[in-house]
Order: sequence, then C-alpha cells, then structure tokens
Amino acid sequence: MSRKLRVAVVGAGPAGVYAADILTKTEGLDATVDLIDRDPTPFGLIRYGVAPDHPRIKEIIKALKRVMSNPDIRFFGNVAFGDDVKLEDLRQFYDAIVFATGARRDRELDIPGIDLDGSYGAADFVYWYDGHPDVDREWPFQPHAKEVAVLGVGNVGLDVSRILAKTADELLVTEIPDNVYEGLKKNATTDVHVFARRGPAQVKFTPMELRELNHSPNIDVIVHPEGFEFDEGSMEALKAAKSQKLVVDVLTKYLAAEPSGAPHRIHIHFCQNPVEILGEDGRVAGLRTEITELDGTGNVRGTGEYKDWPVQAVYRAIGYYSDVLPGLPFDTAAGVVPNDGGHVIDLDGSPLQGVYVTGWIKRGPVGLIGHTKSDAAQTIGMLVEDIDALPAPEHGEPEAFDRYLDSRGLEYTTWEGWEKLDAHEQALGEAHSVERERVKVVPRDEMVRIARS
Ligand code: NAP
Repeated sequence: MSRKLRVAVVGAGPAGVYAADILTKTEGLDATVDLIDRDPTPFGLIRYGVAPDHPRIKEIIKALKRVMSNPDIRFFGNVAFGDDVKLEDLRQFYDAIVFATGARRDRELDIPGIDLDGSYGAADFVYWYDGHPDVDREWPFQPHAKEVAVLGVGNVGLDVSRILAKTADELLVTEIPDNVYEGLKKNATTDVHVFARRGPAQVKFTPMELRELNHSPNIDVIVHPEGFEFDEGSMEALKAAKSQKLVVDVLTKYLAAEPSGAPHRIHIHFCQNPVEILGEDGRVAGLRTEITELDGTGNVRGTGEYKDWPVQAVYRAIGYYSDVLPGLPFDTAAGVVPNDGGHVIDLDGSPLQGVYVTGWIKRGPVGLIGHTKSDAAQTIGMLVEDIDALPAPEHGEPEAFDRYLDSRGLEYTTWEGWEKLDAHEQALGEAHSVERERVKVVPRDEMVRIARS
C-alpha cells in the first residue's frame, strides 16, 4: 500500500492493544492505530474485570504500557462507539476498523425468581468492586445475608466467591476504591455456596486460581462429597487435559481436608442445577436446585429430586455476554459478531468491507488474556490480505479525527491523560495509611478532569 494505513481499534482492552501492536509491527506495513474506548482509561477487563487481589494478572498492564508507548498508537478514551461515534463516522477517517469490545454483561439466566432483590449478575458485582464509573457506588449488601449462592464454576465464580468471603481489611491493601472498602465492611457473608451443575471433571476453574482460594486465613474451602463423581466422559476429559486433572487433584485435596475453623467458608457443591430462586417479600430467601447425575458423556441429566438451600443472596457467574454493536450484525445465540477468521460477515453472508473483530466479541467470552494475542494475529492477517481492496478514507490525515471529536464537544482522554490519572491514583495509594500501590478514582467526571488537566 502506497499510503499509510489508518486503523481504528474500538476497545482498548488487551485484545485491542495486542491488535494495535501487531498492526504496527507487521513487516512491510506502515500503519498507525487509534485505540478508542468508552472508558476514560485503557486496559478494559484488566482494570475492570481482574479481581483486585490478583496483582499478578494486573502486571500484564506493564507489557501493554510498553506497546502504547509506540508513537504510531494513540488512545482516545471516554468516546462511546454507538453514542459518540458511529461506524459511518469512523469510515470517514480510517481504512479499516477493528472491534475489540469484549463482553461486558452477564449472560441471562431464565429461571423463576431471577429478578428478586438480592439476585445479582457477577459482572455487575465485578464492576462495582473494580470501581467502574458507570455502576452505583453502593452495593446493596443486606445485614441478614450470611449465606449466599454463586452459580457457575468458572474463574469469575471463584473471583466473586473469594471477594465475598474475604474481609474488607484483607482487601484494603489492594487498589479498591474507598467506596468499595466501605461497602465491603457491610458484607455479612459467612458462607458462600458455589454450585456446579455438572461434576468435578467438568469445572471451568484453572488450577492456580483454585489453589489460592484458601490462601486467606479467614477462609476454609469445603468440597462436599455429594455429586463428587466421575463417569466415562469425565475420565476421558481428565486424560485429555492435564490442567483439568490438576484442578481435580486440588478439589480432591479440599474434599479430604479438615476445616481449620476459619470464620468464613466457601462450599463447593456438585451436580446441582439451579432451577428457581425462592423469594419472600420480593427478596431472595433461598435457592432450589435439581440434583443431577452424570450421563456417561460428561453431561448430566436431572434426577427429578430437588433441594432447597437457605441462602439470602444469589450471584450468577454463568458467563459474560457481548453488547450489540450498532451498525454491525450480531449472532444473538452465540453472543458474537459473525465473522470469518475476524473479518465481519454481514447478514447476507458477504464480508463487510474494512470491518474486523478480535477477542471475545469475535469468539465468545472464553479463554485467558494471553489467548487474545493469537486471536489478534489471525484478525490482522485477514486485514492485511484485504489491504489492496480497501478504499482510502475521505479524511485520512491523523489530526482529522481529533478535530472531529473537538467539533462535537466530546471530552476525550488521551494516553498522556491516562498517565496523569495513573500517577494521581498511585499518589493516592502512597498517601494512604496502609501501603497501597494505587487507589482507583471512580467518578467518570473526576477521571476525565484529572486526565484532561
Ligand atoms: P466460564 O469459564 O465459561 O464458566 C461459566 C460457568 O457457568 C461454567 O461452570 C458453566 O457450567 C456455568 N453455567 C453456564 N450456564 C449455566 C446455567 N444455566 N446454570 C448453571 N451453571 C451454568 O465463564 P467465566 O467464569 O465467566 O470466565 C470467562 C473467562 O474468563 C474464562 O476463560 C476464565 O478462565 C477467564 N477468567 C480468568 C480469570 C483468572 O483469574 N485467571 C478470572 C476471571 C475470568 P457448564 O460447564 O456446565 O456450562
């Protein structure tokens, strides 16, 4: 291509940053990338999805910062695709647009009682404890909610269970905002019951995350023996995947361990399929599960026997779901934008020229952060193949997009702005009575004010 390729990447989480990195490093390609995000800050789910007591995973930010220091990559935060800019707008400024918008919402669970007070989506709780600007500052913990249920045995279920079972003071050393610390002090949970609808060989936990579940002196992990069973499908799954075998080894150790008498407990129950949330005066008063049994293939069937659990709150952690992107097709069953290796496929089956997807919006909300790297490589490979067919944008000069945002009166943030906010949050951490790496700023207007100061 004789001209410089201008690409907009919508979504500045790891998937978007990796796509920008690959674009600017591809040999023979002279590309500049603008990363656009609705959050005033970059890093998406690393900032607003990874649990605050997982600093090791947050270390990935260091590598992403190195990518962002490339002058060919710019950041435009606080710009919401769909509201502030539309696909037609972006086409005026860019040769190609890559969507890396991830999956931000909870998957729906259609069982009676799901709308009762005290029934929550894990994603909402995660956004709250991670200090996302768009959620209420207060979490509605109830003083009587001592026993709570977590539905789903993936890593999000583990995160939510751990945060519910830890004390506010244990989490004070992390980056949690002040309102979250104050909120957690009102959390009365003593027992978290985690429900798997299948058996131990089918859980989606990863070994390290499961192992560290009892690293808190305040938590005993109790695996209950009912449903701790393996069928032929389970044995095959354990033979096929070493990490699944490791997970089962950890579960087996928990099963055998004597509780230490810690004040909080995380119970893991197998072969319990949630079928109804029971209510009283509009509030959660229990959970009904159908006991299941493995059917030989690693799946389960219902036994027709039910069990009621006296819990006062329910958190569903059954997976994330992507937002529909205005102007793009959407596969509601899979919760993704239909695509061929990352190139978006329109409703009539033809490729949508110059429009690509990567990360969870491309393949669904599964996989660890590192997996988005190979994903981005595939998507950018598709884009590079199409390059000669891409029409030049009407306003291809880099300043044109800034001018457009200014003309619309949009208060966008930049990479320099993020560096200011980053330094500000770290200074708040240093000034704290307990040594903390940072304290997050939560209100959007305050974040934008600091970033644009
Ligand atoms: P996930 O790994 O897909 O787990 C979802 C869980 O929900 C599964 O156990 C699933 O059971 C269960 N489930 C689904 N529908 C259900 C229903 N109707 N009733 C009861 N249970 C139901 O999803 P996730 O936990 O949201 O995690 C998403 C991705 O992010 C994963 O790749 C995860 O590893 C990653 N992540 C990583 C970390 C980390 O610390 N490393 C932290 C958070 C997330 P079935 O298997 O029976 O469908």
